[in-house]
Amino acid sequence: MNDTIANSADKGRSFLSYPKDNVLRPVWRAVLNLVGQNPLPLRNRRPIVSFAFDDFPRTALTEGARILEEAGARGTFYTALGLAGTTNSLGELFQVEDLHQVTERGHELATHTFDHVSARDVSNSRFVANVHKGIDSFAALTGLSPTADFAYPFGCTNLRLKVKVGRSMQSCRGNFPGLNGPTADRNLLRANPLYGGREALREAVALVDLNRRANGWLIFYTHDVRPNHSHFGCTPALLQALLGYISKQNDKIARVVDIIEKAGVVD
Ligand SMILES: [Zn+2]
Repeated sequence: MNDTIANSADKGRSFLSYPKDNVLRPVWRAVLNLVGQNPLPLRNRRPIVSFAFDDFPRTALTEGARILEEAGARGTFYTALGLAGTTNSLGELFQVEDLHQVTERGHELATHTFDHVSARDVSNSRFVANVHKGIDSFAALTGLSPTADFAYPFGCTNLRLKVKVGRSMQSCRGNFPGLNGPTADRNLLRANPLYGGREALREAVALVDLNRRANGWLIFYTHDVRPNHSHFGCTPALLQALLGYISKQNDKIARVVDIIEKAGVVD
């Protein structure tokens, strides 16, 4: 499901882990950004933009991947394997055969826990177990191997998890907005929602421009890609227009794995 919606379950919730949306929240975010970093100094010659599809709905592949490919680009699909074959407000979610399409067409298959569980709703140990189930089930259920790039469902993590999950992954992505670089944090990559239709183009272009001036790494994430998109998806027209703009600027469009595995050295 969407990665910005607040979870309702408060059971076992620690005030220090998840302050409500008040004055403490920015402080908590700042602390979470600062603590437990796994620094990746970027040595990119031009600005980088990545596109991520979370969960993922089938339209992310039928429309999202197709549009990226038309621009000569590839994306990162953060997949929660337990959602295979289900349907929710994002539309129909992926089928197992779609996962083969993702890799055969050169996109990155990354993970997003097995059950799309929120770190707010379960103990840290149960969360970590679900992270590993999300990876280990791939071979058994699909014969495919995902990369060691991970995204937290709902963007939820905490100080202990940031370090613990970070140890077993080559990168972890949250949903704190902003740019990555000049030193990115592999344990909590920043990412920005790409939601809406053409009316959202202006804001997305402004981020791309900001990223160019900073020579940074900008990650966009979305879910369904269809004309009647959900609150957490975008239209094919928006994605197409944004890619058209980025291509004209000669920014590099790369999968998350391309940046992480090249240790930030990108031409
Ligand atoms: Zn998600």
